[in-house]
Amino acid sequence: MKKRRENNFKIVIVILFLIISKFLVAEEVSVSLFHDRKIQGITLTVQKGSYIVFDGKKIVDTLEIGTNITVIKESDYLVYRNRSKAFASDQDLVIVNRGEASFFLNYTGSVEPAKNFEGWLRIKRTSGFIYVINYIELDQYIAGIIEAERGTLASEEYYKAIAVILRTSIFLNLGKHKSEGFDFCDSRHCYLYKNRAGSRLILQAAKKTNKQVIVDNSLNMINPVYHINSGGLTTDGSVLGISSDYLQPVVDTFAIYGQSYQWKLLIPGAEWQQYLVRKGIKSAQSKLFKDLLIDQKNTRLISYKLGNDNLKVDDVRNDLNWNSAFFSMSIDKSGVITVNGRGNGHGVGLSLESAFNMAAKGYKYEQILYYFYKNTKVVSCNSLLIYSQLERELKNEKPL
Ligand SMILES: [Zn+2]
Repeated sequence: MKKRRENNFKIVIVILFLIISKFLVAEEVSVSLFHDRKIQGITLTVQKGSYIVFDGKKIVDTLEIGTNITVIKESDYLVYRNRSKAFASDQDLVIVNRGEASFFLNYTGSVEPAKNFEGWLRIKRTSGFIYVINYIELDQYIAGIIEAERGTLASEEYYKAIAVILRTSIFLNLGKHKSEGFDFCDSRHCYLYKNRAGSRLILQAAKKTNKQVIVDNSLNMINPVYHINSGGLTTDGSVLGISSDYLQPVVDTFAIYGQSYQWKLLIPGAEWQQYLVRKGIKSAQSKLFKDLLIDQKNTRLISYKLGNDNLKVDDVRNDLNWNSAFFSMSIDKSGVITVNGRGNGHGVGLSLESAFNMAAKGYKYEQILYYFYKNTKVVSCNSLLIYSQLERELKNEKPL
């Protein structure tokens, strides 16, 4: 009996340890750096702290501040060079920080300045080039993306709103490049990541919203889509093929303060007519130009109806490279159509310029998010069932 109680006690301890360690493990994401360049080698200089170099599982070098190394792919090997040593390896090279550390990194043949990163690296051969995979704490990664994509001139509540959006999106897209051995690339294909974040305000915004994501009524993470400026009215998710009740049209009174609120262009009536015919609206051929004008002064249309034919207004934005699908037309005597447009982007979800202005006016990040995403809630992802799965995905693979 006593034995059994002891065993039970041990099990409780193990379970407790597992629960606690879950929170001690840093959440890391892996990002392929210089991804679009298909690089052949790198130069790394330690900026701060120190690093240990592993050839597979074997420690082969230590790097202190100022140390400069190169790793270059030569036929089937990675050739490592430090001032005093050189070797070739057919395994991954792993460069791991000891405590707080950062480094400068550039690729062989680059004419750009070196970039500054933190976290640790895995250098991997693949056919024809190498992957340089950077493992970074999730909040640091989020801050880096915000800096690269949204700049450093906004206020904290705006950055917090963007941090929650990005975290939600990152969780939904984790392992996008799983088959290649990392989570994300550093280009716009995933999220733009140029450098480790330097803005204290942005880093704070990511940390203060640590683990927070945005969910719907059923506690499912939402697809937090956004655009540049709504033009004063957002449109529903169907434009992007998302049917959901959190992406509803929102009268957005903050868009007007944004730089992209309005736009204007001219198009010859004949050109517009030809476009409609090309899009399969045959009846456009026999109409007067003045009967082919789209009017969205008071509302946003999803599609424009002419006779029995329909044209998706968002197609016009994509096909003709116009700023938005939210426009109205008028025509002058010479047959030239004036297009008066509002906003920039697809118009679904959050309007970035409006969010920027809301934050500047003192709105909190939750208020900003709830303004654009209806019937949603910002929650800690710890409270979600999906979290245990995310934990597995975000497991720390650091060899030390
Ligand atoms: Zn990608």
